[in-house]
Amino acid sequence: MDCIFCKIINKEIKADILYEDNDMIAFSDINPIAKIHVLLVPKKHITSLAQATEANSDLVAKLVLASKKIARKLNIDKSGYRLVTNVGSDAGQVVQHLHWHLIGGESLGPIA
Ligand code: AMP
Ligand code: ZN
Repeated sequence: MDCIFCKIINKEIKADILYEDNDMIAFSDINPIAKIHVLLVPKKHITSLAQATEANSDLVAKLVLASKKIARKLNIDKSGYRLVTNVGSDAGQVVQHLHWHLIGGESLGPIA
């Protein structure tokens, strides 16, 4: 499958990996929009949150909750951060593999 995040998961493409286990991986965004910009990605290829189902609820919860651990690890748990998932074209989703952006390390201003 021609999916850049699957290639990172399969170690066909290098990334700055911050966390990995059997279900998920977290790595630095190649084009950060803030001082800290990490992507949280399930290893299972799901196109976006729109394609996730009840069968994926544990996985989705795990990824969302993992953001807390990674924020703590990056020392932004107290200063705050933003967790965003883009769904589809109006949201500007570019990579068609479910992921959350964990953004912080500086004041982010309004969401839009
Ligand atoms: P989205 O617009 O929500 O689909 O976000 C996709 C994100 O993936 C963008 O912020 C890109 O900068 C990031 N990205 C694309 N390719 C890579 C890569 N090889 N390594 C790390 N981040 C990437
Ligand atoms: Zn994929």
